[in-house]
Amino acid sequence: TSARPFNFAPGPATLPEPVLRQVAAEMLDWHGSGMSVMEMSHRGKEFGSILEAAERDLRELLAVPANFRILFMQGGGLGENAIVPMNLSRGGKVDVVVTGSWSRKSAAEARRYADVQIAADIGKTGVIPRDWALRDDAAYVHVCTNETIDGVEFHELPQLATGVPLVIDVSSHLLSRPIDWSRVGLAFGGAQKNIGPAGMTMVFVRDDLLGHALDICPSAFNYETVAANQSMFNTPPTFAIYVAGLVFQWVKGLEYAGKRGLAAIEQRNIDKAALLYGALDASGFFKNHIDPSCRSRMNVPFLLKDDRLNETFLAEAKSAGLLSLKGHKSVGGMRASIYNAMPLEGVQALVGFLKDFEARHG
Ligand code: PMP
Repeated sequence: TSARPFNFAPGPATLPEPVLRQVAAEMLDWHGSGMSVMEMSHRGKEFGSILEAAERDLRELLAVPANFRILFMQGGGLGENAIVPMNLSRGGKVDVVVTGSWSRKSAAEARRYADVQIAADIGKTGVIPRDWALRDDAAYVHVCTNETIDGVEFHELPQLATGVPLVIDVSSHLLSRPIDWSRVGLAFGGAQKNIGPAGMTMVFVRDDLLGHALDICPSAFNYETVAANQSMFNTPPTFAIYVAGLVFQWVKGLEYAGKRGLAAIEQRNIDKAALLYGALDASGFFKNHIDPSCRSRMNVPFLLKDDRLNETFLAEAKSAGLLSLKGHKSVGGMRASIYNAMPLEGVQALVGFLKDFEARHG
């Protein structure tokens, strides 16, 4: 329990308070080493144990199969928009399903390396399109499984009939739910939502997709090179990996509704999202425009009936201890990001505030 305000920022985002406290306690002297993790050699045995535990816990939490490598890289989600086509496209065809701003950006970046086709586009419909124009000879199909800005999430991964590898951008819902690896060739995500500090990117890549990088691919971004060096080809983002490792421990130990670990986090995320969407749908004043079949559990955009009240809403929310609710400028209105580390009490407080605001201004 904490006196800190609830932070609904889209990323960098709220982190579990016990993790922040542990980081603070270990800042000057990690486990008697006499060093902060920031000050350690990435090749020393102390950091080696941190990296190994983080990878092991992440693999265990997400049940990542043995034929997938987990890479800790840098460059973020936008970096991966170039790194993925440099490693996987072989200069050939890439099909992209556009469900919002992030997949649209991925398509634009991949065009510099590959023959990109938009297989389907959500446009302004608010529902993931059913029919995709996929090419059998594409090198991969790219999907963003949670659109952070638009609030659109795949609740089931597509099963591609063609056998073409599926690449998923999981930046904003990684570790919020299990992943069906049987449908995935590669998954990538930045850390700064559910995982830890910005600066670290996680890549989960199936073995058979290694070793096909274009000549122009920088060595530090060549998955085969990074994998062969256990994410230590160059200096990895050591502090971010350390904090992420503590977050993995926190998820493993989390208990909720009789469940533990990832199952507990997922159930808590389901309940938080149901509470918030329920309140929005019940109100005559706030509105979310995404089809219930693909509403995001992580990012909940909503508009006020009268957008002249936006500034008042944000100011009053801040006074009530509810931070960072401003929506992305491309969508307008508000957005509540309710990542793993947002407790149920945070969403309850937000819902209480919405009702109160509507009663006073509606
Ligand atoms: N993809 C998604 C789904 C994202 O949410 C973001 C960041 N908000 C990115 C990619 C880009 O990540 P980065 O800023 O780390 O490059």
